[in-house]
Amino acid sequence: MGSSIERLVRSKIRAMNAYHVPDSTGMIKLDAMENPYPWSESMVAAWQQELATVAINRYPDPQAQAVKAALKHSLNLSDEFDLLLGNGSDEIIQMIVMALAKKDALVMAPEPGFVMYRMIAEFVGVDYQAIPLANDFSLDIGQTLRAIGKYDPALIFLAFPNNPSGNLWRKKHLRKIIEACRGLVVIDEAYAPFSEKTFIDELGEYDNVVLMRTVSKMGLAGLRLGYLLGKKAWIDEFDKIRLPYNINSLTQVSAVFALKHADEFDRQAKRICDEREIMFERLSSMKGLDVFPSQANFILFRAPKGKADAIFESLKSRNVLIKNLSQNGGLLSDCLRVTVGTPEENEAFFNALQHALS
Ligand SMILES: *Cc1c(COP(=O)(O)O)cnc(C)c1O
Repeated sequence: MGSSIERLVRSKIRAMNAYHVPDSTGMIKLDAMENPYPWSESMVAAWQQELATVAINRYPDPQAQAVKAALKHSLNLSDEFDLLLGNGSDEIIQMIVMALAKKDALVMAPEPGFVMYRMIAEFVGVDYQAIPLANDFSLDIGQTLRAIGKYDPALIFLAFPNNPSGNLWRKKHLRKIIEACRGLVVIDEAYAPFSEKTFIDELGEYDNVVLMRTVSKMGLAGLRLGYLLGKKAWIDEFDKIRLPYNINSLTQVSAVFALKHADEFDRQAKRICDEREIMFERLSSMKGLDVFPSQANFILFRAPKGKADAIFESLKSRNVLIKNLSQNGGLLSDCLRVTVGTPEENEAFFNALQHALS
């Protein structure tokens, strides 16, 4: 079998490791940017009533029309734009890369950044080039524009705010990139519920920009629902690649239900942002840590040199799971990322961190 695998499976794929998700059973889970707040009993009961109406023996609505209508309404979307739904925004990234995967096409994204951009480019077999960030995780716009000139990318992904650093790009820089790029620019607003800024109002000004969001980080990670907003002509092309029925019936019903309760999610996002500011202050006051300001529901911080692994393990032994990014090297050397949890979870994190640092 080994020899036929070697002969048949692309070498890029053979060289990869499957995306690893650590076991978190029984842990305080502050590693994956999940919203920690459960729903009220009455909300759960109302949701379950909706779920009970689903004819699970039938295929879902292939166009997920009710979800799209509810999203268009909540976004106040003008007729110029349309929506594409994905099984998480990860699937949307995949659809976009597949659609643009011409022979010499190249994908670019800032690094450190969201790893799926590179991974999906590799899955699809498209070249990829990182845009290296400056030491404070900001864009070096001069270098970025030169790289765009040199590589002429078909596609640029810009997470706004960025993951794992949590910062926003300057809008002035976004505009320069969009104007310099002959390819499509995808603004990935996965963290929109926690961010003071969005590019949504500028979307109509450009023909080479689409904007992507997800319900995952706002509190519905289990649904797997992402969406792409863009001018109709772009959405029509990507929709041809979308697998039929990619949004399952339970997700469709649940998303419509959740959008009716948007105020509850807004309240939760507000609490998360308030907690984020408290955590930022507290982390910043701890000796030896370098803390990066965040517009998302997580905070990146740099531990004293060579200490990140030990801190991560020490937290884990106290049942607190965060994300250790140190092995990535480069700007992420010694870096750890913590998701903002409930006040109780954050307290447990700080207790464990204090212990690890002493
Ligand atoms: C988490 C994340 C996503 C993935 O979202 P899903 O909808 O859960 O697939 C996309 N982009 C960024 C920047 C993220 O951090």
